[in-house]
Amino acid sequence: MSAQTDDGDGTTCGALSCTNDADVIIDHPKYGKRIVCNGCTGGYPVIRHV
Ligand SMILES: [Zn+2]
Repeated sequence: MSAQTDDGDGTTCGALSCTNDADVIIDHPKYGKRIVCNGCTGGYPVIRHV
């Protein structure tokens, strides 16, 4: 059993100065869809997980 489920494309969080792996896509009122990590959602609606 692998401990990691990496389905990813190596995308990193879109927030400034954050280098975590991206976890979700949020609907940002100003920037539109942003790919960020779980810590950078800013309370905005999560569209889907990545
Ligand atoms: Zn982040």
